[in-house]
Amino acid sequence: MSGAIYPGSFDPMTRGHVSIIRSGLVAFDRLVVAVLRNPRKDALFTIEERVEMIREEFKDTPAVEVDSFDGLLVDYCRRKNVRIVLRGLRAVADFEYELQMANMNRHLSPDIETMFLMANDAYFYVSSNLVKEAAKLGGDVSRLVPDSVASRLSAKLGLPPKG
Ligand code: ADP
Repeated sequence: MSGAIYPGSFDPMTRGHVSIIRSGLVAFDRLVVAVLRNPRKDALFTIEERVEMIREEFKDTPAVEVDSFDGLLVDYCRRKNVRIVLRGLRAVADFEYELQMANMNRHLSPDIETMFLMANDAYFYVSSNLVKEAAKLGGDVSRLVPDSVASRLSAKLGLPPKG
């Protein structure tokens, strides 16, 4: 069975992430969506909340497993017995960072490959950070995130539910 790991911060998951996961399932029988336990000062949601929101979105899709990890991604891949890392590419701005990471991971573990899927054009400019910024200022981001995220985002920011 072919599997891949889709790692990221997912703070929170957007419809851009959802679209990469759904496209990834065309190629892989099993996809592990792995939330990085990286203590970031600007995080809005806890790791547990992020994992829960992703689980809720994919509760009817058994091929998607949701997990969290810390330490090196390549070590996590080995623990999960998976050799492919899936990442999404949006604008050119993603390219440099993604190339650096893919090359570092290849250096650390040549048997693990990184594969990229192009972002859906509808979500090309959607990032977790921009979604958070717009929502904090009262903007309606309900069409850019899954429903499970929209309600929690409003609750987290103390805003009335939108959409
Ligand atoms: P990280 O902090 O690891 O970049 P993110 O949660 O921001 O974590 O993103 C995880 C992966 O999903 C990255 O490969 C990123 O480029 C990709 N991604 C983020 N937003 C989108 C989007 N709107 N469309 C496609 N891919 C995306």
